[in-house]
Amino acid sequence: MASSQSLRVGFLGLGTMGTPMATNIAKAGFPLVVWNRTAAKVQSLLRLGATAGNSPAHVASEVDLVITMLSRPTDVEDVVLGPEGVLEGIRPRAALIDMSTVSPATSRKLAGAATTKQVEFLDAPVVGSKGPATDGALVILVGGLPQTLERCRPVLEAMGKRLIHAGNVGMGSTLKLATNLMLSHLMAGFAEAALLAKTAGVDPVRLLDVLEASTFRSPWYQAKGVGMLRGDFNPHFALKHMRKDLDLMAALAQELRLRLPVTDSVRQLYAEAERAGQAERDYSAVFAHLEAPHPVVIRQ
Ligand code: NAP
Repeated sequence: MASSQSLRVGFLGLGTMGTPMATNIAKAGFPLVVWNRTAAKVQSLLRLGATAGNSPAHVASEVDLVITMLSRPTDVEDVVLGPEGVLEGIRPRAALIDMSTVSPATSRKLAGAATTKQVEFLDAPVVGSKGPATDGALVILVGGLPQTLERCRPVLEAMGKRLIHAGNVGMGSTLKLATNLMLSHLMAGFAEAALLAKTAGVDPVRLLDVLEASTFRSPWYQAKGVGMLRGDFNPHFALKHMRKDLDLMAALAQELRLRLPVTDSVRQLYAEAERAGQAERDYSAVFAHLEAPHPVVIRQ
């Protein structure tokens, strides 16, 4: 791979997160080649001086470092391992970083395939949503060799304020799933507490006041809570992605023969909300789902 000053970067997946992350790479001065399945989304990056590749393989053939930021594990596998995928074009000694939230098994599979092309791999999923992605303030959880992390550090630092090396390949993904496990509980708990207060006649905004004054104060409650209580479910992190992550947690727990009973209930709630039409809204729409009229089951 080239020295960090001359690293050419390929970025695949310009969704809610990918667009601001790629924007920060371009703004940091790295030569950038982009690709997105829906081609129209490359326009804002072209205005910043990036060029567009015709396919993942084409992008990979032009750069030293390829980054993927896609939805589900199967999407990443299609783009990396499929026809006209990254591995068809990537150069020996290049690096591949998957920043999507996937299972550790997927990260290890991608790393194994990359090795056959003499390519180094990192799993580097992120904590933080659209705001931190725009501000270059993501927390990046890295799995892979320390020397690969050091080579890629300047590009990762263009997107994140803190890099946390979790261990070998797959451990970045594992740490991300553990983080989102807590986040899914927090949101479900907050939504249920707000619903309880509201239905009993207490303004749920008072709940935010309590949180602000208490020892479990967190900027997260203010950031998510104000919008949620106002009924603003514009997606920063789509509910369907949190539901996907809960499925990945369940699969990992099964692999590890672990019981996660609270997470199982939370997973059912998000799956129910998705089926009820909340998939594309923010994951805080779990509140809207709980608020919607449901038949009350009275247990004897
Ligand atoms: P998003 O807005 O839904 O964007 C998904 C991206 O993946 C789009 O560029 C989409 O292309 C592309 N894509 C999906 N399936 C594809 C396929 N089969 N082939 C090619 N491209 C495909 O998602 P996001 O919010 O940016 O999240 C991306 C990843 O980061 C997810 O794994 C998510 O769980 C994780 N994450 C999200 C957040 C957040 O707050 N949003 C935070 C941390 C981590 P099109 O434009 O063509 O649809």
